[in-house]
Amino acid sequence: MRMIEVEDLSVKYLDIEALSGVTFAAEAGDYIGIVGPNGSGKTTLIKALLGLVPFTGKVFFNGKAFSEFTHNRHVGYLPQKMSFYDPRFPAVAREIVASGAYCCKKFPKRLFASDHSRAMEAMEMLGIAELAGRPIGKLSGGEQQRVLLARSLVHSPEVLILDEPTAALDPSSRETFYKTVRDLNREKGVTVLLVSHDAATIGEYAGKLLYLDGKVIFYGSFGEFCGSETMTRHFGAGQHIICHRH
Ligand code: ADP
Repeated sequence: MRMIEVEDLSVKYLDIEALSGVTFAAEAGDYIGIVGPNGSGKTTLIKALLGLVPFTGKVFFNGKAFSEFTHNRHVGYLPQKMSFYDPRFPAVAREIVASGAYCCKKFPKRLFASDHSRAMEAMEMLGIAELAGRPIGKLSGGEQQRVLLARSLVHSPEVLILDEPTAALDPSSRETFYKTVRDLNREKGVTVLLVSHDAATIGEYAGKLLYLDGKVIFYGSFGEFCGSETMTRHFGAGQHIICHRH
């Protein structure tokens, strides 16, 4: 089943063409790694999929045209920078996770006991239930990022979009984080779109690769990417880092 279909998508910021003619499709349960040099349009693609920048072209989620799709309900999004530095920030981890449920409520938005139990379920699923009562500002960067992952999952999205989600984490927290996402993909069938500069991580966890440079340079399986001479010529040593497992 096609979960995301993008046809001829282009984005312009005034006179800068950030993306042109992007076409690709993700099947339900895919794990797609999005890579490309700085300024190649990775974040712009994510923003377009989330409806945060105007675009031309067509986007379908689960067979529905973009305009008919209730994004908040179906898509979980975890950006790169979202940290609580103030140790006195007045919320415990469980409240932050439960706040993810605001996405899908109508005015006046209120959280109920059911939202808090869903928050606990999401935290249990990610193995962080013991953090529930701790003030968010007193958790480590890795713990905060897993709390925010739980927040993006509290409404059981079918698609999870991650934009450089571990940039601020140490290597061991990063690994725990990616294993958690891998399990969500494998066991719950969540479709994952991951933007990362870390080619080794993409090679380790993603099943497909979308290589952007203002347009799609490559989209497909690692088998096709890693075997091809054109790709070796184009990406040089970078290809070997991505392809270390393939
Ligand atoms: P990446 O995520 O691959 O680093 P971006 O999607 O952030 O790339 O940027 C793609 C291009 O669009 C770059 O040339 C960047 O300078 C430009 N760009 C991104 N955001 C804006 C903006 N808000 N206004 C103008 N230009 C932008």
